[in-house]
Parts: sequence; C-alpha cells; structure tokens
Amino acid sequence: MINYPKEVVIEEQGLRDGLQSEKALVPKDKKLALINAVVDAGVKRVQVTSFVHPKLVPQMADAEDVCRGLKPTNGVIFSGLVLNTKGIERAAKAGLKHVAASISASDTHSRKNANASLAKARKGFAEMVKVGHQLGLTIRGGLQCVFGCRFEGRIDPAVVLDLIKEQLDLGIDEVALADSTGMANPHTIQQISAEVIELAGGMPVFLHLHDTEGKGLANALAALQVGIAHFDTAFGGMGGCPFIKGASGNISTEDLVFMLGQMGIECGIDINKISAVSRSLEDFFAKQFSGKMHRVLARDDIQIVRNYREGHN
Ligand code: ZN
Repeated sequence: MINYPKEVVIEEQGLRDGLQSEKALVPKDKKLALINAVVDAGVKRVQVTSFVHPKLVPQMADAEDVCRGLKPTNGVIFSGLVLNTKGIERAAKAGLKHVAASISASDTHSRKNANASLAKARKGFAEMVKVGHQLGLTIRGGLQCVFGCRFEGRIDPAVVLDLIKEQLDLGIDEVALADSTGMANPHTIQQISAEVIELAGGMPVFLHLHDTEGKGLANALAALQVGIAHFDTAFGGMGGCPFIKGASGNISTEDLVFMLGQMGIECGIDINKISAVSRSLEDFFAKQFSGKMHRVLARDDIQIVRNYREGHN
C-alpha cells in the first residue's frame, strides 16, 4: 500500500515559465488579469515574473509593474524568479516577499545559461541568499537540470545532493528540484527526491517538471509515491526554457489537478476555472498548448467529462 500525500501544493508558473517562451508580448494588465483568474481558481502560489535582463527575456521587462499591480490576497504567495543579487534587490523593491533562486547542477549549462562556471554560480548563490535574507525575503533555493543536461547528459546524484546540502547550510527556506530538460524518469525522480526530502528535514521540496519527453505526469506520480507534495505546473502545459532548445512544456496545471482529483488528493484548485484560463491563452496566442484537460473539459460529448461535472468520477 502506497502512502500518497493527502494534500498537494501547486505553484502556477505559467506567468513566468509559460509566457517567457512566447514571442508575442502580453500586456501588463492582461498578466494581472491572468494572475487574478489563477488565484480565483484556488491557486495559492503564483510565480508572477522573473527579474532578468529585459534584453534577454523581453516578455519579463515589465516585472516591476506586474508586481506593483498585484492585489494582496490572504494566503496567496506571489513569487519572482531571480538570477543574481540585482534581481533580488529589484524584487524586494517591487514589493515581493518571496523569491525563487536556483543554479544549474550542470557546469556546462551554467556556463551557457548563466555565463558562470558552477563554482562561480555557487558563490553567487550564497551571496543571493545573504542579500535576500537581509532584505527580509523568503527564499526558495534549488537546482536546474537535476535529472539531466542536454550538454552533459546524466548528472551525478552525488553532485546534486552536495549542492543541495550546501544550499540548506546557507539557510534557504524551501527547495526546488527542476527537471529543466524533461530528461528525468520515474526511477531517477524517486531516487533523488527521496534523498533530498530526507536532507531537507520537513522543509517543502518542490519538483519542477517538464514534459519534453512525455514523462511529466509519470514523474509526478513517482514523486508522489516517495512523499513529494509540492509541484510547479503551468496552465495549458505552456513553458520551456529560452536557453534550452526543445525544453518545451511544463506539466500542465489542469492535467495534474485532474489526476490528483481522481486519486482523492486535495489541491484546492477548481479544474474548470483553471482550464478556462488555459483556453483563453490558446485563443490569445492562436495556438494549441500541450496540456490535455482544458480541451477535454470544453467538450460535451465525452462521458467522463459529464461524470466529472456531476461530481462522480
Ligand atoms: Zn522550467
């Protein structure tokens, strides 16, 4: 008998990981409307933007404006992605209380993506934690490319655990393990997650999964089985990494919400509302995203959908 968590926390990353891979710029007011819709659907954590150089990611050039337009909502955490101390300072100045900072577990990816060797990135990370805490921010630490790198292939789990230990010693408040390339499989997910959960000693451990190789939900299920209860997702299954070619698609919020619901695991998110957000984005960008349930739930001719709407699945 497997002990699944009773509740799961989902952090919606579509506003950042999703939108950043789209060329068509989304106006600030539309982003704020999306954030409100996501919160209305019951999402309790939203990564609203990233503080990167506007030239590198033009979609995030309005980071400060988006943060200043946020409607404070009880029990909802708004977070921003930061890559350096300048980003931390910008986030704090814009009024955020929570930031996500991470480095790559792959030296080659770090050199190409962050223009820093892994050794240099580690030093930079320590500085970010120091400055972030001085500014009173909660810091989600963590690693990218935990389960594989397109340049280096497999990443040695010992390296991953060493880097996580170092970050825990620095005093991060939460941990996130990102499968940035979608190369994880259920076996590696269970191996590494179990070890990190033990190291983290009760601190939330998030998994950030991409569906690049079609294993996204399988990996989420494997993670649930070893006690992971925190996931990043993106509406519609949008997303990617502008620096990793082909790293498309986070696991879709509505697909994970639907699967959890069928398994009797609570996440507090209204699947019909979040699906409507995804459909509105497909209309906006005039394209189809890789998630499934937002389209399934729009149909009237499928028995499972009727059952779901009537509350028995
Ligand atoms: Zn990602």
